[in-house]
Amino acid sequence: MDNINVRFAPSPTGYLHVGGLRTALYNYLFAKQNNGNLILRIEDTDQSRKVDGAISNLVESLNKCGIIFDKGPERYDKNDLFIQSNRLHLYHDAVELLLDDGYAYICLDDNFQKYRDKIFSKEELVNKEYHVRLKIPNNELSFDDDIRGKINFDLSLINDPVILKTDGFPTYHLANVVDDHDMHISHVIRGEEWLPSTPIHVLLYQYFNWELPVFIHLPLLLNPDKSKLSKRQGHVAVDDFLNDGYLADALINFIALLGWNPKTNDELFSIDQLINQFNINNVQKAGAVFDIDKLNWMNAQYLKNTEVSQLLPIAKKIFINNNFIIKDESDLVSIVEFGKSRCNTIKDIVQLANPFFQDLTYNPDYLSLLADSKSKAIYLILIEKIEGLQLVSESDIKLIISDIGNKMNLKGKDLFFPIRLAIWGDVHGPDIGLIIKILEKEKSLERLHRALNYGK
Ligand code: GLU
Repeated sequence: MDNINVRFAPSPTGYLHVGGLRTALYNYLFAKQNNGNLILRIEDTDQSRKVDGAISNLVESLNKCGIIFDKGPERYDKNDLFIQSNRLHLYHDAVELLLDDGYAYICLDDNFQKYRDKIFSKEELVNKEYHVRLKIPNNELSFDDDIRGKINFDLSLINDPVILKTDGFPTYHLANVVDDHDMHISHVIRGEEWLPSTPIHVLLYQYFNWELPVFIHLPLLLNPDKSKLSKRQGHVAVDDFLNDGYLADALINFIALLGWNPKTNDELFSIDQLINQFNINNVQKAGAVFDIDKLNWMNAQYLKNTEVSQLLPIAKKIFINNNFIIKDESDLVSIVEFGKSRCNTIKDIVQLANPFFQDLTYNPDYLSLLADSKSKAIYLILIEKIEGLQLVSESDIKLIISDIGNKMNLKGKDLFFPIRLAIWGDVHGPDIGLIIKILEKEKSLERLHRALNYGK
């Protein structure tokens, strides 16, 4: 295929939705596979819905996920031609063409039927507010969608849509088609929710006598109950997932499979593997269920397989956002090392590390172990030994505990469970030396005293 140009065309109305990420990703993969260009175009013709900072947020979220554009707004300012509000002259020219050819008409109010065949002179419009509508004929229109095949649409079902508003801004339909043509878009890959708008777009292409792009409408994203994916059932903003410690690579891998599958049992794909294997022609028609359990499973695989050093910058941020301050970076390394094979997300690692930062609660199943006289004897010796240390190090603690084991003839569970229960609240958890080192002397002693006095 020659000259493949695709685009992602979000409206800057807030955050990047996972559905938007999927659209951007499929466009990106398709462009990469075909040596094409991926264009980012900001569709801000509805000025009332514009949100400050939304463009930079969108670009940042996409970049974090590895989606880089070949062309798009760089400065986000009033001269940037990838932002529709800076391209009004193009839409005005297009409206003139349609008016001249009788495909559009000027209306002075919403009672549009009465203006359908009226032609205003320039003088009649001076100081008047008006909008422009597209004339929709009463016939059938058909077009092809690469995934859905031929689509027939009865145009008599729709009213003449507004294409230019009284504020001088075009509506989505006009701006979208004018830009797709101007930017030489070869394939329009977008969500299914835009399918009902496509007949209007096709009609515009016919009126302008422009070549149609290939249309590809991606299946809806659904909640597990098959309703349209909504905030009510969990996160939908890409940033919320990233802030919870889902890894961008895992999120991309998961999102890629919402509507496409490789027809093998493989489920884990890096973005490069996706570029190799993704096939837009295999995208399904049926809605794709956003299964958070699957995302959790997938993220766990990525966590396990990612080096701690790579996780550290993200982990640091997430710990701080959750008000967990770890003084010593090597302690964070140990916590992440411990948690990454046990947790689904980095936020889960924060949860797992909770006992470091919060008041201890004991696992109720082991309260009798706390009250046991052997446990008390261990606590006594441990307290005495730790009190004798200036600073606690992991190796000191190891030595002390193995001494206690020898003296009391205890090993394994019998030795470790009571100690971990006292300082961690549970019999399973991170290495005892690490716990005591991170807690430091005073807090460790406090916990050992509390255990010693438990039940007394
Ligand atoms: N501005 C539309 C959106 O927000 C673009 C739809 C399209 O890709 O044509 O998704």
